[in-house]
Amino acid sequence: MKQHLNITNSEMAVMRVIWSMGKANSADVEAQIAERQNWTVATIKTLLGRLVKKEMLAKVRGGRFYTYTANISEDEALKKMGEELLSETCKTRQPMILSNLIKSTSLTSEDVKQLKILLDQKETVTEVECTCIKDFGVCIHMGQYAM
Ligand SMILES: [Zn+2]
Repeated sequence: MKQHLNITNSEMAVMRVIWSMGKANSADVEAQIAERQNWTVATIKTLLGRLVKKEMLAKVRGGRFYTYTANISEDEALKKMGEELLSETCKTRQPMILSNLIKSTSLTSEDVKQLKILLDQKETVTEVECTCIKDFGVCIHMGQYAM
């Protein structure tokens, strides 16, 4: 499995159908999302083919249709997507991304409890170094606060 998933929003919609159903054929995907997304059967087959090529899906011939299963769990994919987002961001900006995610996420009291435990146990550093210099040769965040 590659380090970066690099999947599009359309491909992600197809993955969500496969994850929720466990396995699916193109007719299943069509029944779940074609109308909502305004997709043709050909579009769905193209997306399924791309996801197989990207090693996100495995396909097995079964009767009239190919059946598709996920090569990666939803949790693992979401973890990678989060890591991808952070890896393409200046390290000084990452706390702001976390803050915004917390603000825009619906959380139960149990979720909040778990997050507090996580924060209490988090090892801290004295300073987060800007990674723009390393990435681009210039720094636009020097002296700015991350929050
Ligand atoms: Zn920076």
